[in-house]
Formats: sequence, structure tokens, C-alpha cells
Amino acid sequence: MRNALIAAQKNCLAAGLTTVDDAGLEKEVIDLIDDMHQKGELIIKVYAMANPSKENLDYFLKNGPLLHERLTVRSFKVYVDGAFGSRGALLLQPYSDGEAHHHGLLLNEKKIIQDLAEQAYDADFQLCAHAIGDSANRLMLDIYGEQLRGVNDKRWRIEHAQLLNPMDFKRFKEYTIIPSVQPTHATSDMYWAADRIGAERVKYAYAYRTLLDQNKMVALGTDFPVEEIYPLHTFYAAVTRKDGKGYPEKGYAPAHVLSRREALKGMTIWAAISNFEETEKGSLEKGKVADFVILDHDIMKIDEKRIRSTKVKYTAINGSIVYQSGTN
Ligand SMILES: [Zn+2]
Repeated sequence: MRNALIAAQKNCLAAGLTTVDDAGLEKEVIDLIDDMHQKGELIIKVYAMANPSKENLDYFLKNGPLLHERLTVRSFKVYVDGAFGSRGALLLQPYSDGEAHHHGLLLNEKKIIQDLAEQAYDADFQLCAHAIGDSANRLMLDIYGEQLRGVNDKRWRIEHAQLLNPMDFKRFKEYTIIPSVQPTHATSDMYWAADRIGAERVKYAYAYRTLLDQNKMVALGTDFPVEEIYPLHTFYAAVTRKDGKGYPEKGYAPAHVLSRREALKGMTIWAAISNFEETEKGSLEKGKVADFVILDHDIMKIDEKRIRSTKVKYTAINGSIVYQSGTN
């Protein structure tokens, strides 16, 4: 595990990542990361969402959040449903291309998630819920709403939020819930998404513009290792909604294209906000840590065709160069 983490760190730094949000970790792995940080074997920062196992709940709810210099544990990741590819995402109406009455999978009972939400709320922990289908999202918004009851600063997140019933978007605003989305999902799934859920529902899938409009922010991630590790692919997918070959020409559901400024914020300051870290990172300002990358092109200006091939020249954490291209 130690070797795997060191190898993973090498790949992350080369891709230009300075903090990784890692979802659903066991205490054993969290302790190992902490130990490797203390020994200087790991330098990348980790925002670890704990798996809500009995061991983790007993430990963290009793001891409170763990806030070390490079490791934070103040959230639990809970799975509501599966994914679209395998028809495991939970839908309000059956799949358009599945067996009759197939709605997908609920991976945790409502009561279990409700209990977790109550415990997390009372102990001031964040919840990050994996919800992909419209039914999973509705269930999670219901459960979040029961605890949050209105505008708040708990920063509870819905991870993926891939398909929403149009009635439900506004509840992200009502309860200040952060949509944490991965723009390459749109461009990986676009070839078959309409087959799975049909032409009507697909209008409300990967709807990043509508999600961003709720709280004027959205956290963007890669979802590696499900998707590739490269944040520049995330940036490209967010601002073009095209695949690496430039397909489709006008972008997939182009109403949901984000501006370059929005995509950059989604990967920096809004991501920091979604981790409660905006006072220390997420922008280059006096008083914050110097976590940054230097790229060989200005991704805010170059032709979109050149974004994916832009190279990370340097990655810096706390002002130290931790990756330099061509040297490893
Ligand atoms: Zn997930």
C-alpha cells in the first residue's frame, strides 16, 4: 500500500494535482497516509472522505475532524446508487434500454443514510453522497433537506449529480448543497446516455450550467481512476463538452458549457470551498499556501484544440517544486 501511494503520488504531481479528494477511505489507509505525511514520504495533500464503516463512525464521530497540515478528514462518503454504464444508477422511471421495470440499484437503505446524515450533522461532519440517477438524487436531496432545513454552511455535497428531475435542481439552492461534478463524465457517456434514459430525460443530465446557477458555484473533479487522472481533460471537457477528437462539433448539450473562468474556479477556489479550505488555498493570494502549477500554454487563451496537449511544466506545493517535467 505504501508503494502504491508513492506511485500514485508521482502520477498525481505530474498531472498537476496538489490536493486529491479521495472518496471512501478506511481508517487503516487514512492512518497510513498520515504516517507517510509525517515521515515526508508523501507530500501531496489529501482530503479524505471516510467510508462510513462502523470503525470510522465510532472513531471520527467521537474524536471529531482530523485537520493535519496535509491531511483532512471531516467528511463521510456514502453511496446511494450505481452508475449509468451498468444500468445501476437509480431512476424514477425505468431505463429506456433495459429490461421492463428496471430502475437501477439502491445501494444503501434510506434509513441507514438518514441515520448517517443525522450523526454527521450533529458532529459537524460533511456528507458527500454519490448520487447519479434522478431517483438517487431526489432521495439524497430529501435526506439532506431533513437535516439542513434551509440555507446553511455545512457544505454537504452531492457527488456526480448526473441526472436530476427538473423539479429538483432548485433544492441545491434551497439547502446550499454543493454539486461536485466530473465534466469528463458528460463526454465519456454522451455516445449512449440518450439510449439509457431517453431523449426527454437526457435534457436534464450532466446539466452543469443549471447546477452552477443554484449556488453560483460547482466543484469540478476528474473522478480518477474511473476516468483519467488529468485535470486538463476536465477543464477541456467543461469548456467544450467535446471528446479528444473534437466530437461533436458544437459540443454535447452546449447550453451546459462552462466558461474558462468558471471551469478554472471549479478546479481551484470552488473546489477549495467544497473542502472548507478557501482561506488557505484555491487562489494565489498573500496569506495562502503556494500550491500551484506552471503550464506551457495559457489555457485561458489558447485554441481549445491545444488544451488537452498542454503540458504541466512545474507543480509546487507549499512553495516547493515537487514535479518538474523532463526530470523524472
Ligand atoms: Zn462516486
